[in-house]
Amino acid sequence: MSIENINFKNTLIEEESLDPDDWEELKTLGHHMVDVMLDHLRNQRNYPVWRKPTEQVKSSLSQSLPLTASKREEVFHEFEENILPYAKGSIHPRFWGWVEGGGTPFGMLADMLASGMNSNLGIGDHSAIYVELQVINWIKEFIGFPMEASGILVSGGSVANFTGLTVARNSIPGTHIRTKGLYESASRLIVYGSSETHSCIQKSIEALGLGSDSFIKIPVEENYKIDLNLLQQAIDNDRKNGNTPFCIVGNAGTVNTGAIDPLNELAEIAKKEQLWFHVDGAFGAFSAVVDELKEEINGLNKADSLAVDLHKWMCMPYEAGCILIKNKTLHRNAFNIEPPYLVAHERGLAAGPESFNNYGIQLSRGFRALKVWMSLKEHGSEKYKRIILQNIAQAKYLEHLINKCDKLELMAPVSLNIVCFRFNNGALTDNELNTLNSEIMMTLHEKGIAITTYTFLQNRYALRVANVNHRSRKEDFDLLVNSVLEIAGNLVEAISVKRTVAVD
Ligand SMILES: *Cc1c(COP(=O)(O)O)cnc(C)c1O
Repeated sequence: MSIENINFKNTLIEEESLDPDDWEELKTLGHHMVDVMLDHLRNQRNYPVWRKPTEQVKSSLSQSLPLTASKREEVFHEFEENILPYAKGSIHPRFWGWVEGGGTPFGMLADMLASGMNSNLGIGDHSAIYVELQVINWIKEFIGFPMEASGILVSGGSVANFTGLTVARNSIPGTHIRTKGLYESASRLIVYGSSETHSCIQKSIEALGLGSDSFIKIPVEENYKIDLNLLQQAIDNDRKNGNTPFCIVGNAGTVNTGAIDPLNELAEIAKKEQLWFHVDGAFGAFSAVVDELKEEINGLNKADSLAVDLHKWMCMPYEAGCILIKNKTLHRNAFNIEPPYLVAHERGLAAGPESFNNYGIQLSRGFRALKVWMSLKEHGSEKYKRIILQNIAQAKYLEHLINKCDKLELMAPVSLNIVCFRFNNGALTDNELNTLNSEIMMTLHEKGIAITTYTFLQNRYALRVANVNHRSRKEDFDLLVNSVLEIAGNLVEAISVKRTVAVD
């Protein structure tokens, strides 16, 4: 069979489309769907944070491909029954897992509008492009990044970091990596960052063909900030060994503990050594808006490239991240390409501002800028400032609760919005505490009380609260602490019963 077998006379008898036959019926259902979702968001506090997907749910989601139409009401009903109740929970007031923002109702509606418009922001002269250019400028203005910088919205921090590091790699003086690849030079290209750097940086370095051995993880000091002396030594060492250092990655808020590297000092070293200075500010960059933290995060604006996330501390619905590049020409030089089907025209839809395709890896791009634009207008930047400050103050409050309780141990300094702690009654070994605290966390989840996640700090298991939650209140942290103590009490009792039995 081939295209010759398709006869348009036989096929085009009754043409159809994917739009509804009955628009009024869809409008009724659509209004109902919006109501259900807004009520769901409004009532989150009454629901468990998390429910394990049941066997019935999983089997309902492993069916074969539907061949024929289902009623829309029935499809939505299945969503209500099998999908919505078993969500990850990031919209709940007691979700503090990984670093995940809670989204907003208006942001959700914005996503619906964007989806309806179905604009592709790769190229063209249309409103959505101007919205994206607008919000990129707002982000620079908000965090105090130089206004001449270029930028592009991406899916999140990982792709933002990848994009920044691609520009860094393609901008190494004396190389022609876009044409020659990495084969031109026998010298290894080296990136530095602290041992606390997010794993997506290593992934980027691997994907960029540099090899993870080219990422030198510099040890941190006690406060989890990069050790500057060891960084300098590593650079000197690499130069001596004939390697080519080209980039320093600074952390503005590490994922483990929220530590902010000394950015000014890193910028100075980068300048002196003529290296690219990239900053991963996925969530922490936004602490630059809080007056009390301006000094701590000083130097952020000296980055050659800065990766930020909007779906974390800015609470935009997934997905939204942004990369800012100080030198627009270098940004463009890293990605620009103009095949015959993408040539810019003087007039018509194929004209307009320069294509975003010249500034990133994606050609087709969704209208994620709309939720950013609508949300910033809905609240104004001052409100976001207050929410960020509120989250930090709540972290300090949790720190205070932990320090006040002799059975809880703070595991790292609270330098931003991340609190690492564990239950420790002083009677158990580190190994036993690791098991016990991981049991505590799993029980917290299973009971639907709260979502904390975890990390290992010096091989010790820590419960980790990352607070970018605009719905949390003080009492939620009281409940967390009380629940941890209660669960731990029961578990410790079970351990001592087991020990007694073993001795008997
Ligand atoms: C979350 C995070 C990332 C990765 O961002 P995604 O949006 O999850 O891709 C990178 N760096 C830090 C510090 C993060 O917290």
